[in-house]
Order: sequence, then C-alpha cells, then structure tokens
Amino acid sequence: SKEEWHCSGCGVSIQTEDPKKLGYAPESALKRDVVVCKRCYRLKHYNEIEPVSIGDEDFQAMFASLHHKKALIVKVVDVVDFYGSWISGAQRFVGKNPVLLVANKVDLLPKSTNRNKLTNWLKKSASDLGLKPLEVKLMSTVTGEGIDDVALTIDDMRRGRDVYVVGCTNVGKSSFINRILAMHGQTGEAMITTSHFPGTTLAMIDIPLGDGKSLVDTPGLVNRHQYAHLLSVKGLKEITPKKEIKPIVYQLKEGQTLFLGGLARFDFVKGAPSSFIVYAANRLHIHRTKMEKADDLYSKHGGELLVPPYKEDGEQVRPLVKHSFKVGKEPMDIVFSGLGWIRIQTEGAIVEAHAPKEVGVAIRRSIH
Ligand code: GDP
Repeated sequence: SKEEWHCSGCGVSIQTEDPKKLGYAPESALKRDVVVCKRCYRLKHYNEIEPVSIGDEDFQAMFASLHHKKALIVKVVDVVDFYGSWISGAQRFVGKNPVLLVANKVDLLPKSTNRNKLTNWLKKSASDLGLKPLEVKLMSTVTGEGIDDVALTIDDMRRGRDVYVVGCTNVGKSSFINRILAMHGQTGEAMITTSHFPGTTLAMIDIPLGDGKSLVDTPGLVNRHQYAHLLSVKGLKEITPKKEIKPIVYQLKEGQTLFLGGLARFDFVKGAPSSFIVYAANRLHIHRTKMEKADDLYSKHGGELLVPPYKEDGEQVRPLVKHSFKVGKEPMDIVFSGLGWIRIQTEGAIVEAHAPKEVGVAIRRSIH
C-alpha cells in the first residue's frame, strides 16, 4: 500500500496530483527529511500565501465547524462577478458571527462608477441572498485601493476574535492575504502556525495578529456558477477584464439584439430608440443583429462567429435562458455576472437578457 504523508507545517494529507488542491507537494519533496505542502513551503520560504481550492463537501464541513467558533468572517467576492463568486449556503454556517463583505477588483470598474451606489447594491444583494454583512468594503489588491481601510475595519470589528478569510477561488483572497503579510512585514518559520477544523481533514494557515489571535487563510471553494467552468483558458482570457473596463455606447432601436461573444444575448424588445452602454472586457466581441434573426444566428454560428465559446477548442455552446425586465424612471444595469453589464436609461423599456443557466443575471440601479 501507498505511504501516507502529512505536511509537517499544517498537518494536511499530502497529495502529488493536483497543484491547485489542498495538500499538494511534488514527488521530489517526499524524499526530503521534512515534508511540507506547497502552501506551507511558499509561506515559509517566500512569505507568500498560495491559492488552494476544495470542493463543495469539504467547504460545507469547514463552515459547519466555523459555526461553533467565535470569529470575524471576512468574505471576499469579485466585484465584476458577484453572483459567480457568491458562496451559497454559507450564511447558515456563519451563525452569530459578524461578517465583513469585501468586494475585490474595483480597479476594473470604469471611472464613472458611483461607489456609494455600488456598495448599496452589494449590501442589498448580499441581504437578498440571506447574509447580512455589518460592513461592505471595496478593494483592489492590484492598485492597493481600500486595503488599509479593510485592514483597519478588520481590526475594529474583530474585538479579540480570530479572523477567517473565506471566498471562492479566483476572487483574489490570496492576493489580499499577501498584502496583509507584506504590511505586517513578518517573515520566517514563526509564520507557520496552523489549525485543524474539527471533524474535517482541512488544514488552515494561521497568520498571527499579535494578541494570540490569528488571521486564518481558508481554502477557496470551486464555484460552479462561473463562466470559468464553461470555458477553456483561451475563452476565459477574452471575457475576463484585465484592466479598467472601457464602456461602449450602442444606439439601438426596438427589435435589435446584442450578442456578447456567444455567451449572452441582450434584446431591446420595446421602447424609444436610445443609447445602451456595454461594460465588458475590452477584448470581448460584440455583435449587433435583429431580434428576429437572433435565434437562428445563435444556433448556426454560436461557437463560431459568436465566440467565445470556441467550438474548435471543444467548448460547449450552451442553451440560453431568457430573463425579462422592465425599466422604470431610473437608469438600470442588466448584469451578466462574470461577463459584464449593460446600462439602460430608457424609461419604460422592456428588455430581455439571455444567458446559460449557470450564469447569474440580475437588474440593479445603475452604478454609473
Ligand atoms: P484566490 O484564488 O481567491 O486566492 O485568488 P488569487 O489571489 O490567486 O487571484 C486570482 C486572480 O485574480 C489572479 O489572476 C490575480 O492576479 C487576480 N486579482 C487578484 N486581485 C485582483 C484585483 O484587485 N484586481 C484585478 N484586476 N485582479 C486581481
């Protein structure tokens, strides 16, 4: 039988197959006297937290035991993929613990963004999903915007408790913790103190906060409600904004349609001719057509002319689900979570938004 190894840093079972999953170490590391997982290795030698992921079951187990602890929960989401980066069900396990919601990647939002409206939308959306954060903060680990504020807020809110940083993969949780590590300027082996969640095989890395309490890095949940799981690396690159989103204005008449790549479709069903502003990755290809031709175009050219997805790379062309909306007096955004949003300022307009069923589609008061 195969020998079982445990990380001497955090105690997690060592696996040699998947570098992105908890407990990974390369085969060669098993020959050393002291075996540590990649995450502990990086922290020890480079003072850096490495992102790792876990599946649903482990994540639920982690939260179930968090419920019994007195803690401050810092929940990190991706501001351009709110629904895709939301962890559903987490609210049940937070218990009475206070929650700080941190929306990362604000550097991707255009200058025209109204941060107050955005914060209010985040607060309301979280609450609609069953979680009532005490505070909502905006942050960018790339530009550093908001990091000091988040750090101060954590200090203020934790009141002698441990701090658990949770989020799904790719929201920038590791980047954030690395910023915190750099702020504290801590180095070396003393950093690796770890904790186990009772009843789970999950090992956490604790970062001492100086009063005997810790900031705890938890593994990220792989969330299925993301475009990331519908696309390959190439397709994903085209839809993921890398720098500030540049809005594009479209003059539309009723009966016209916009395709965002082959991943979403927007129909202007009824209303006076007017301008619609598309916010999406600058590389994303947008195709204008007539509503009456849209079904046909999608079934013939989805995955070919309308890309991504790329059929040639084996990406699937998904059926699109329709969501209908009516716009009132106030300008609204129709949000395709993870892909972008469209600002509508036509009073009384009726629009339809189509997206794969995996993708969150929502309407909000425009944040511009
Ligand atoms: P984790 O899986 O939640 O630990 O996320 P990572 O810290 O590994 O970051 C995931 C991806 O998002 C990486 O490609 C980062 O470069 C990127 N990222 C993280 N923070 C930001 C941010 O504030 N702005 C932008 N534009 N990208 C970010």
